[in-house]
Amino acid sequence: MELKTSYLAKHVRNLQPSGIRKFFDATAGMTGVISLGVGEPDFVTPWNVREAAILSLEDGYTSYTANAGLPALREEIAKYIENYFCVTYSPDSEIIVTVGASEAIDIALRAILDPGDEVLVVEPCFVSYAPLVTLAGGVAVIVQTKRENEFKVTAEELEEAVTDRTKAILICSPNNPTGAMLSKNEMEKVAAVAKDNDLLILSDEIYAELVYDELYTSFAALDDTRERTILVSGFSKDLAMTGWRLGFVCGPEEIIKGMLKIHQYAIMCASTMAQYAGLEGLKSGRKDVKEMRKSYRQRRNFIVQSLNEMGLPCPNPEGAFYTFPCVESTGLSSEEFATKLLQTEKVVVVPGNAFGAGGEGFVRCSYATSMAQLQEAMTRVKRFVDNL
Ligand code: PMP
Repeated sequence: MELKTSYLAKHVRNLQPSGIRKFFDATAGMTGVISLGVGEPDFVTPWNVREAAILSLEDGYTSYTANAGLPALREEIAKYIENYFCVTYSPDSEIIVTVGASEAIDIALRAILDPGDEVLVVEPCFVSYAPLVTLAGGVAVIVQTKRENEFKVTAEELEEAVTDRTKAILICSPNNPTGAMLSKNEMEKVAAVAKDNDLLILSDEIYAELVYDELYTSFAALDDTRERTILVSGFSKDLAMTGWRLGFVCGPEEIIKGMLKIHQYAIMCASTMAQYAGLEGLKSGRKDVKEMRKSYRQRRNFIVQSLNEMGLPCPNPEGAFYTFPCVESTGLSSEEFATKLLQTEKVVVVPGNAFGAGGEGFVRCSYATSMAQLQEAMTRVKRFVDNL
């Protein structure tokens, strides 16, 4: 019998599927495709990290861990954050090991938002942010960054969007998709807006280790900002562990306690073997990250130079592994550019508007692919642009 009504909740029915996935589906059945579309490292997880998971299984560690994660892992996270970010968190009450940074963002929003509360979402950004705000019952207020500011948000842009209902600023630096990274001084200005308006900063720092030219500063490390910062990070990008689904969140005790209640009921704990793997990754000092960073830097320099030379202007991204060239000179929209490039040259890039309306006129190219593939991709993109 056919059902007359949809059982789906309205807010779920209205949710649009991710613009990235939609685009990947178009490559199904195609051969010879080079993808600059993926948002994950092309490296395999370092062997010592994989081996630690295998050993944990051999040792029979197959039960749940504590809800907040293995105590030893939380201790290593606290040490890592202290050494790298110069911020101290208690492993007992201020850290949760999560199922990726994704879960951390989700439970942070669910923990802090009452229905109708607003979150300033700095765009262009990772595709999950606005939908997660909506699913948490909040309202995503988009703060559009400008190309002339290299997609770095300004205090004025944030200030203009603040209302009585604003609860938090959701921000990611270095950014996906633009690669833009705020300087310490620029971060202080954002933090000042948060302080003046008594807002939280939900800071997605998943790319903190993939920074190429400058030193990294965490929002939590700024003067007088730790207590209003929820620091989200994880293992997916720098340890090439996307499929393990492991992340973490650090924050003030009250907020972490609230988040832990949601995590405890919805998730229970992150995968035990993944936690053992992550523990090894931290204990061994993320030793492979240095080599990966070097390799990404080389590839970034190559792709940025190539894109600029073929007339697709592209600032030098300071972190993450994305470039965000402007394609307006081709006369094509982002979507047309990406679709035609795929059809004629079999190269996948993601239309910039998949990351918010302000991304129109741009495409995201990930350089987390081998140098040989990147070189071939650039030859094809140049041919495509020259033939337009
Ligand atoms: N934040 C950003 C900015 C990302 O780009 C991604 C992954 N593409 C995530 C969070 C999700 O990370 P995880 O795999 O840890 O859930």
